[in-house]
Amino acid sequence: MAKSVTAITSKVLELMFAAAKDTHPREFACVLRAEEGVITEILLVPGTLSGERSAILHLHMLPIDLSVVGSAHSHPTPNAVPSRADLNLFSRFGPLHIIIGYPYTMDTWKAYTRDGSEVKIEVV
Ligand SMILES: [Zn+2]
Repeated sequence: MAKSVTAITSKVLELMFAAAKDTHPREFACVLRAEEGVITEILLVPGTLSGERSAILHLHMLPIDLSVVGSAHSHPTPNAVPSRADLNLFSRFGPLHIIIGYPYTMDTWKAYTRDGSEVKIEVV
């Protein structure tokens, strides 16, 4: 299950930026699916749009299968650093997790490993 993820498509990033903008100032969350190390698809988390502040809690309710390589969620501030709750979630599944900070652009997202270290992945 410890597959390595090295890239994400710009299409997926743009999709997440749009979803984060739509959800703002609440958090948006999804899980990431990859094919051969490239994130190509997201799966929206039920309840993300329900108005609750902490979207990441909903991630615990998702079925996590082998195509899921991690999570992504937005922060309504420019701070894309993982919170304690985020780190706890990251440690539970998948090798790669993304946080998208406000205003949700190519300059305001960061990727992290399962242990919370920042990592650079390629945009393809
Ligand atoms: Zn967070």
